[in-house]
Amino acid sequence: MGRLLIISNRLPYTIDRSGEDIVVRQSSGGLVSAIKSCLERTRAQSDHFTAQIWMGSLDASKEDWKILNDMDALESDFSIEPVFVDKEIYDAYYNGFANSILWPLFHYFPSLVEYKKEYFQAYKLVNQAFADALNKIYQPGDVIWVHDYQLMALPQLFRQYQPDAAIGFFLHIPFPSYELFRLLPSEWRQYILLGLLGADLIGFHTHDYVQHFIQSVKMLLRVETQYNSIYYNDRIIKADLFPIGIDYRKFRDAITDEAVVTICTRLEEKFYDKKLIFSVDRLDYTKGLDHRLKSFEEFLERYPEWRGKVVFIFNVVPSRKVIPAYVDRKRKIEEQVSTINGRFSSLDWQPLIYRFNHLSFEELCALYQTADVALITPLRDGMNLVAKEYVASCIDKGVLILSELTGAASELSEAILVNPTDSEEVATSINTALTMPLTEQRYRLSYMQKRLAEYDVKKWINDFLDQLAFVKGEQDKLK
Ligand code: UDP
Repeated sequence: MGRLLIISNRLPYTIDRSGEDIVVRQSSGGLVSAIKSCLERTRAQSDHFTAQIWMGSLDASKEDWKILNDMDALESDFSIEPVFVDKEIYDAYYNGFANSILWPLFHYFPSLVEYKKEYFQAYKLVNQAFADALNKIYQPGDVIWVHDYQLMALPQLFRQYQPDAAIGFFLHIPFPSYELFRLLPSEWRQYILLGLLGADLIGFHTHDYVQHFIQSVKMLLRVETQYNSIYYNDRIIKADLFPIGIDYRKFRDAITDEAVVTICTRLEEKFYDKKLIFSVDRLDYTKGLDHRLKSFEEFLERYPEWRGKVVFIFNVVPSRKVIPAYVDRKRKIEEQVSTINGRFSSLDWQPLIYRFNHLSFEELCALYQTADVALITPLRDGMNLVAKEYVASCIDKGVLILSELTGAASELSEAILVNPTDSEEVATSINTALTMPLTEQRYRLSYMQKRLAEYDVKKWINDFLDQLAFVKGEQDKLK
């Protein structure tokens, strides 16, 4: 029995210093809450692991970290191991290789990729820094679980230090088809694939992503594969699907939370005679925000009977403000919002309520519960947790319109699935959703809710870790 070591790019803290004062904030988001659940789960089952440690980079100096650590200011349920990276290198690794090369390419936006050698060098340096830091704390028997596209080389770099270590890797974004992946220069794509093959188990959200990965391994490395198994360097490595779940209980419990109920009541009073459409996404080109607004505009054109009777609460969350591909998007989205409002508003009605900010958990849950329709239409999304959270939060009504280009679409087949680039289809679907009989809404929700309750985030974690233990067992038998 050993410890569980979770490795992700960032630790879940934002640290701001002004003069003598240091302010620590816990960050939120899908990956963070998934990892937190993971650590809680293992704490609850202490017969499984003796301790759990979360390793990641921290946007703070070593001195500030020491002060915070001494103050006991950080979460204490698990140990924290910060990795310190020089700011300039971190920038080229994170904003550069991870978010200006891997992110656009893996989300099918090849024209946005910035092929810069210095970004690749920085990616290598940071992955190596993580491998070194991990090796310093590793003890035989530890189980290592590496998360996401920023650390795809880490499994192999670490295996060079510890050939027998149990290493799992999970990719939270899509793995693109071979034709996209091969656009990377050959040194880079080999480095990434070989990096991943350092793991014993490589997890993806969907069957398609698993197949794309195996296809790339076969075509580019010419190694032997059989179904989901890859034979490399005398090791058997498994690639498999583990669609991430949500903390279903947390969203159901929010239904009776006092703060949530208060916001719901306010919303219901304000919009008592309107239907509400809702969306929330980071400001990211993958989320299809401009297409969504265009579709909503088309809906108002085609179905004039809905004017004055429907309000779209359109929330956008700030994201990656320093990357060129993101810089102009806010202005463009805001122009589109005001064009639509300018065109359709009357003296007592405005079709779009636009907000550019983070939502509190309570606000988010209240909006999920109150919205008649969630309009979730990314152009590409590894999973999309918002879609699952919306379905989990619905009480006795609610229709999900979901892009077929999200990972979540393979599990939420009772949603109205749309192609986000087809504004006519999306506009028609909005009308279908708004006119759907309550019995049908409830029937569709109940199927999806049952599935989300059964395969929640804890089940996802258990499945992944059990499968990792199984693969290690198979490897031992072959020795
Ligand atoms: N979220 C949040 N605050 C907000 C808006 C969203 O914490 O103001 C959470 C939301 O509950 C969800 C996650 O952020 O768990 C977004 O995950 P998703 O997979 O939908 O998209 P991503 O941002 O990871 O691409």
